[in-house]
Amino acid sequence: MYFPTVLNRKNTIRHIVKDWNHAYCGYKLNFSSNITPIEFKKIQFCNINTIDCIQCKKFLSSNDID
Ligand SMILES: [Zn+2]
Repeated sequence: MYFPTVLNRKNTIRHIVKDWNHAYCGYKLNFSSNITPIEFKKIQFCNINTIDCIQCKKFLSSNDID
């Protein structure tokens, strides 16, 4: 199972994208309101094992997304 993720460059923690503004843990994403191809490239589809954010992972496991 692969998830759309973004990498926080400050602390290199990878979060799971919930919508254009937030990750599942509440981490705010800084996409512009117009999603350009450059913005879109910031999203990477990654296996859950590569996601560092404990809160994002917790959210997924508690909601049984498959
Ligand atoms: Zn997160």
